Amino acid sequence: MDAQASSAADLPHIDGSVDAALEQIKRLLSTTQDFAVLLVYVHDVDRLCATIGHADAQKVIAQFRGQLDEFRRGDSCIYQLSDRKFAVVLCNIRNQGHVQLAAQKIQRQIKAQSMAGKVEHSLTAAVGAALGKRGYNSASDILRSAEIALLEGRRVGQTLTFHAQATGDELVNEWDLERKLANALEGGDLELHYQPKICIKNNMVIGAEALMRWNDPQLGAISPNIFIGVAESCGLITELTYFAIQRACRQLDEWRRDVEKLTVAVNLSPSLIRNLEIVDVIKSATSIWNIEPNEMVLEVTESALMADPKNTHNVLTAIRDLGAKVSLDDFGTGFSSFAYLKKIPADELKIDRSFVMNMLEDAGDRKIVEHAVAIAGSFGLKVVAEGVESMDALAALRELNCDFAQGYYISRPLAPDDFLSWYRTRRSNG
Ligand code: C2E
Ligand code: CA
Ligand code: CA
Repeated sequence: MDAQASSAADLPHIDGSVDAALEQIKRLLSTTQDFAVLLVYVHDVDRLCATIGHADAQKVIAQFRGQLDEFRRGDSCIYQLSDRKFAVVLCNIRNQGHVQLAAQKIQRQIKAQSMAGKVEHSLTAAVGAALGKRGYNSASDILRSAEIALLEGRRVGQTLTFHAQATGDELVNEWDLERKLANALEGGDLELHYQPKICIKNNMVIGAEALMRWNDPQLGAISPNIFIGVAESCGLITELTYFAIQRACRQLDEWRRDVEKLTVAVNLSPSLIRNLEIVDVIKSATSIWNIEPNEMVLEVTESALMADPKNTHNVLTAIRDLGAKVSLDDFGTGFSSFAYLKKIPADELKIDRSFVMNMLEDAGDRKIVEHAVAIAGSFGLKVVAEGVESMDALAALRELNCDFAQGYYISRPLAPDDFLSWYRTRRSNG
């Protein structure tokens, strides 16, 4: 059977969907954005009908269809082409890796759906994809390419098949890192380490910053400065951050018996603080693990705030309304104006480590730290110095009346068990 015959056989169920998909693809072809068309074919629908009946099977498929709505962002659209086939038109994609991640997500969704629907056998899907803007000139050619890819994939039992393979080492490398990161996230290979934060006045440990760690079996430890950037560019950052929030709450719950009240700070990337969705994630994680919202600190960079003041203001206000705290990270690098600082929805300023690390040698950096402490004081904010690498730096900060300190001199970021041992030793030494 050729590709067109296959799609024609599937089409009559949902009138007009193919036309609508073609219309959208045509529209996208007239723009400059890169996009992909993914055809998703749910395997074994007949077996599903035979085991749980048509009505319940339809419900399972409808719920899966609802989950696909997650991809409906910007110009991205979903179309149901038959009782078992969907088209996802994915916009603003950077490369093939992005499509790979979307396909993996779809596989996870269909699997989760079969579990939620208490279906005895696991449902799976095949995905055939075609990339827009790569030598195609008509919408129907692109859809047809995706159909051919789907057919090829179904024939050889592959979960994702591209019709037009992109080439180039750069793409493959980047794609490889994205794919590996997606697998690490799914396989539980990402973990949080915790760097203590102390009160300068009384030396008490008041909290910890959760910092993500990724140890790939082949590549070794990969710096968060690299993989957070990859996660941001391929759209994985939302899932990664939700994982961090959940994990940090669970950690607080696990430590409850062993530590006095501590706060845990989670970093939020710029894209996460433009949308109120994050507020619900924090709310649900704290309630699942029975954590007081004021035990959570969300760190956002000063530059992220300045990039989109209006939306971030609303999100940060909502986070604080929940009772969680907001810390302005990397302070001093983002050029906040006094007018903005006056109404900033934050509890704390965190002076960027580049100034703190050099404050003993560089009079200019010391001045910046001094001013940051004064600004925080005048706006009623607490102030944290990060990058405290020596006893002398800690003493200088004490002199300046800085509230809290974090840095290698106090401790490096530690795995959860090491954090607990460090905490106990420190407590028993007074
Ligand atoms: P950040 O938020 O500014 O985190 C502090 C960084 O400073 C950490 O680097 C920490 O290990 C390092 N640091 C702490 N004390 C000292 C010190 O005394 N001296 C020096 N030289 N460095 C110190 P790390 O763990 O490599 O993280 C780098 C960045 O990656 C973080 O910078 C943050 O922007 C990002 N990041 C890490 N985990 C996450 C995460 O879960 N989500 C997001 N969105 N970003 C994360
Ligand atoms: Ca931080
Ligand atoms: Ca920082």
